[in-house]
Amino acid sequence: MKLPERDNKVIWHPYTQMQGAISIGIVRGEGAYLFDEDGRKFIDAISSWWVNTHGHSNKYISEKVSQQLNTLEHVIFAGFTHPSAVELAERLLQHLPQNQKKIFYSDNGSTAVEVALKMAIQFYSNKGSTKRKIVAFKNAYHGDTFGAMSVSGRSLFTNPFSQYLFDVNFIELPVKGREEASFEQLKEILKTDDVSAFIFEPLVQGAAGMLMYEPEILEKMVAYCKINNVITIADEVMTGFHRTGKFFATDHINEKPDIYCLSKGLTGGVMAMGVTSCSQEIFDAFLSDDKTKTLYHGHSYTANPVACSAALASLDLYEKTECAENVKRIENKHSDFFNSIKEHSAITDIRQTGTILAIELKTNDNTSYLNSLRDSVYNFFLNKGIILRPLGNIIYVLPPYCISNDDLNYIYKTIKEFLDENLI
Ligand SMILES: *Cc1c(COP(=O)(O)O)cnc(C)c1O
Repeated sequence: MKLPERDNKVIWHPYTQMQGAISIGIVRGEGAYLFDEDGRKFIDAISSWWVNTHGHSNKYISEKVSQQLNTLEHVIFAGFTHPSAVELAERLLQHLPQNQKKIFYSDNGSTAVEVALKMAIQFYSNKGSTKRKIVAFKNAYHGDTFGAMSVSGRSLFTNPFSQYLFDVNFIELPVKGREEASFEQLKEILKTDDVSAFIFEPLVQGAAGMLMYEPEILEKMVAYCKINNVITIADEVMTGFHRTGKFFATDHINEKPDIYCLSKGLTGGVMAMGVTSCSQEIFDAFLSDDKTKTLYHGHSYTANPVACSAALASLDLYEKTECAENVKRIENKHSDFFNSIKEHSAITDIRQTGTILAIELKTNDNTSYLNSLRDSVYNFFLNKGIILRPLGNIIYVLPPYCISNDDLNYIYKTIKEFLDENLI
């Protein structure tokens, strides 16, 4: 029996309607490519759900991970520490803004967000304040655990759980031309003096369909929160690690958020790991002779040494000039392609931030994520050996930084072909 059939008998896949679902069995990865058991080659144009930045089976990372595995595979992280966790925290803080002083480890993007929310909420409770409200953008995606779902836009993902999610004040995303309207909504909510935190995906809302907005308005919003004593939380889970052209998306602004959530590209897509960093002020609010002020949160695999070593190796690669050059190269290639097809009649919108290119296809069907177009687009590209996973009627290219110009050209050519054939 081949992998897909064996899989079908025993496995339940994420974000998959399992009725009739078939998975492709991948047995090997190399650079920007994935190979199935029949030897078919695919270009991983979405970085395996936005995590893979240096390419698959990177030799440098696997060497470092293997050294760590043979030295210390894991140790409890309460009451104990280890060199890789300390070094990773030191080095992450060098890349994060100056105001970030402490690193809290967890396992993934959702837990990084949970920890951030708990830090913000307990910050006020430790100070005896009654601030309760949290502000987030409509259509936001911050993860799939309950706290992360609560601050995410209400959608078909969250509908079955809606009555179990805590209340959040949602404001419009300040997309081009709508900046003032969105800012007014923020101002209105902050008038109440009851707002504890504002959480956002800086510059790009990923799962919402790669929706983008400008640094200037984000800067203005973060600044406004600061003067009103509202904690700002940057969810850089998708945007971090050069994805938007700078190390962090918030490097495009001068005002610095109080809390950061990192994951996905943190380990280069090699190991599951989450990080929540915070300012000294947040951290200090948990210091006390009173034990009830402790942040009682942790995971069995907190700061797993193997994950830390993958992140350290990944950081080595991010710090090379070659990485920044590749990011610039992809940005330029994207933007050339952008200009060549922006007037295409099959497109309603096209947008780019850094290495992310998103194309919105014209469609009569407005059911967004469940758009019937989605499956035909997905299969069209799979048959051409490209993994693109449209979000409804939105195709996006978010490649590993090692992708070659030839492979990018092939992806663009295939997208153009799709648009021209008017398969819509
Ligand atoms: C993917 C994502 C998350 C959730 O991360 P997981 O590791 O999938 O739990 C949170 N926030 C953003 C912005 C994301 O893109």
